Amino acid sequence: MTTIVAMAQVERPKLVVGLVVDQMRWDYLYYYYDKYGLGGLRRLVDEGFNCDNNLINYVPTITGIGHASIYTGTTPALHSIAGNDFYMDGKFTYCCSDPSVKGVGSEGSAGEMSPRKMTATTMGDMLKVATDFKSKVIGVAMKDRAAILPAGQAADAAYWWDNSVGHYITSTYYMEDLPKWVKKFNAENTWNPGKDIKMSPVGVEKTFLMAQAIVENEQLGQRGECDMLCISVSPTDAIAHSFGTRGKENYDVYMELDRDVAKFLDYLDTTIGKGQYLLFLSADHGAAHNSTMLNNHRIPAGGWSISDARKRLNIHLQEKFGLEKMVPYHSSYRLFLDRPGIQKAGLKLQDVVDEAIAFLKEEKDLLYVIDYAHAAEAAIPTSLKEQIINGWNAQRSGDIYCLTKSGLYDFVPDNDYKGTTHGAWNPYDSHIPCVFFGWHVKHGHSSRTNYMIDVAPTICAMLHIQMPNSCIGNPITEVADQDMK
Ligand SMILES: [Zn+2]
Repeated sequence: MTTIVAMAQVERPKLVVGLVVDQMRWDYLYYYYDKYGLGGLRRLVDEGFNCDNNLINYVPTITGIGHASIYTGTTPALHSIAGNDFYMDGKFTYCCSDPSVKGVGSEGSAGEMSPRKMTATTMGDMLKVATDFKSKVIGVAMKDRAAILPAGQAADAAYWWDNSVGHYITSTYYMEDLPKWVKKFNAENTWNPGKDIKMSPVGVEKTFLMAQAIVENEQLGQRGECDMLCISVSPTDAIAHSFGTRGKENYDVYMELDRDVAKFLDYLDTTIGKGQYLLFLSADHGAAHNSTMLNNHRIPAGGWSISDARKRLNIHLQEKFGLEKMVPYHSSYRLFLDRPGIQKAGLKLQDVVDEAIAFLKEEKDLLYVIDYAHAAEAAIPTSLKEQIINGWNAQRSGDIYCLTKSGLYDFVPDNDYKGTTHGAWNPYDSHIPCVFFGWHVKHGHSSRTNYMIDVAPTICAMLHIQMPNSCIGNPITEVADQDMK
């Protein structure tokens, strides 16, 4: 005789909170550990489950792609967000721009945004489908792409900051008018119109104030349904780009983040209940350390300019084939050939690719130059090959990938250069935090390698919902199976 033990009802947390910190290196959990207070980022590590070896399994490691990949559980090859900007329909285009929608809360191009260029669904979309669209899913960030891509296609709302007016806006993709409570929030929280709020820790504070206002006014987690809030913290990226991964500016913004996380957790404990919400912390990518600082300690680092290399390449290809600007674009170590022009001239694309690669192989700062369409045949380490293939969207990512020597990034720093950047395959750019906290999560850690795209299937497994439609990640069983023990 078979005994069937059924659950009274499918158990889900009241609220899922995604917290993605732009450019947060994994080691910031430990570099600042002693400086964090007990109730913020340190509480997540001390009470949550820390997947200590969480890696990005594609290149380039940049913002739009990162936010899309975490929430879709897949990579640019399949979600089609092939960069912050990428090639589409014969021209270069921004990942969220959508001229068919208008801004709500401000006029101008800052509001003409939607997730329509993303071809995959997110875990929020799947949560909504699983509950017959009773769950609410909302995204918030300073950057439009960091609010829009995580929240997904079927989201109730995404709110981002328009610097020109100094408050939150959305687009007609989601609604025709801002809710009353958002208008009130904006009136009380306007900050220096015309200034970039991402350059100030105030941007972090305003992100969490808005997150709290969303929970309060939309009653997230308080309606008898599992809801989802996708919070992305953007100023951490802008500040480190200008001032680097060390020093006062980076310290200040992480301390602000830590205080705001602590307050937000306290608020959720009171409003939703301790252990009643499930939160994860991750990042869209990491960052290299400042090259001058590394050089001062004899560590090889520096810059290689793909812009300059493209100029040299265009001159060479013109001499060889008689056509001008055969490589009209570059972006994040990728070169985009003028496919229509090459076809029109009766040339074979492969002949031009081969000539370009032979020329670029003379660049002393490049380790490898990869023919994207034939990356599987490249004689490079398997993990790098996978990262390149996972990151390549055949329609949008271009034709050639340039792999620099480790420590070199696409920038030429001068001696006074204080900042940093990201985008490469290397651990400094691809090793990011992955901490689960709250509902059905016991304290612990794992050093087993898992990937950024494993977060979505892990959350979906815990919620007993279908994973997103292009998901190729795997549940992190150390976390997902905890409620089975
Ligand atoms: Zn970023």
